[in-house]
Amino acid sequence: MEKRIAVLPGDGIGKEVIQGAIEILQAIGERYNHQFSFTYGEIGGSAVDSAGVPLPDETISLCKESDAILLGAVGGPKWETLPVHLRPEQGLLKIRKELNLFANLRPTAYFASLADSSPLRKEVIEGVDMLMVRELTGGIYFGKPSERREVEGKEVVVDTLYYERYEIERVIKQAFELAKTRSKRVTSVDKANVLESSRMWREVAIEISKDYPDVTLEHMLVDNAAMQLVRNPKQFDVVVTENMFGDILSDEASVLTGSLGMLPSASISENGPYLFEPIHGSAPDIAGKNIANPLATILSAAMMLRVSFGLQEEADAIEKAVNAVLDAGYRTGDLMSEGKTKVSTTEMVQQVKAALA
Ligand code: NAD
Repeated sequence: MEKRIAVLPGDGIGKEVIQGAIEILQAIGERYNHQFSFTYGEIGGSAVDSAGVPLPDETISLCKESDAILLGAVGGPKWETLPVHLRPEQGLLKIRKELNLFANLRPTAYFASLADSSPLRKEVIEGVDMLMVRELTGGIYFGKPSERREVEGKEVVVDTLYYERYEIERVIKQAFELAKTRSKRVTSVDKANVLESSRMWREVAIEISKDYPDVTLEHMLVDNAAMQLVRNPKQFDVVVTENMFGDILSDEASVLTGSLGMLPSASISENGPYLFEPIHGSAPDIAGKNIANPLATILSAAMMLRVSFGLQEEADAIEKAVNAVLDAGYRTGDLMSEGKTKVSTTEMVQQVKAALA
């Protein structure tokens, strides 16, 4: 198989962890006889430095011409005082819009060897295997008007939660499609007891579920979902929800496994390339020290192989190698505990590579 991959390292540890993921993809390419080509593009603060904007047009073209995109992370103190339109995070928002990346998928899986890193008890998280599907390009984060006003002499503020029906339909449909390949359960999270938008969300979920008789649909109010995630996370398979609820719940779900440095994500579109990235940021506090955990980015590369290229066996091989390395006791600083072997970013990558062989 031949695939073109756009590589956007971004800032801070983004550059370090991306390098590790590329090495693993190259090793997979050699072993399974695939030709992956990697073309680098700028995004975030480093793009501001080199091109004057956080997402140069060349990067957008590169992404559109590629089969998939692998991103590191953006941001850092150097760019925090710039005007809003020049901040690194604007590069991320813009690329989501440009590529119409309407759904964000975040798997949270239990790693037996990391049970001690979780803030929850082992018996609560043992066996957790959930996939959060968050609507990414609509809802209250994008609705207009979003402004302060003066009404009858009073200062008021308004944000608008706006969805077109098709935006709800496509993300819920995606959740059902994904559930078909897993444990065939979808939990649709809303606030239908209060919000009209949630009542429409629920109506659409029920309608779509009729096309998927093998998949069980359950509705859950968002406040209950927030509680159930820490009380009994094992009950969830695929969770689908709107943008703001998903923003909050996916961060809550991310701590179940103990470290930001372990979690991959995918953002998908209707017919363009998908984007894969670790959920963590550019970690300026540890950047340039070769101590960042590269596993979230390596697992994002595995997700890319499975979701974008249909390379199930290759993706499984990476995930197995990561588990083997953790089982053997190798840890970057963020996961370190007594009796384990501390390794640097590059040493961790070498261990995963060796476990692949
Ligand atoms: P962060 O995720 O960068 O870091 C939070 C903490 O987790 C830090 O202590 C960091 O050292 C640690 N950490 C994160 N990833 C790690 C890894 N792979 N290995 C080891 N430790 C890791 O979040 P933050 O500190 O809130 O933000 C830093 C910058 O990143 C900000 O500019 C922020 O805007 C940006 N950010 C970018 C993204 C993205 O690119 N998708 C996401 C979140 C934050």
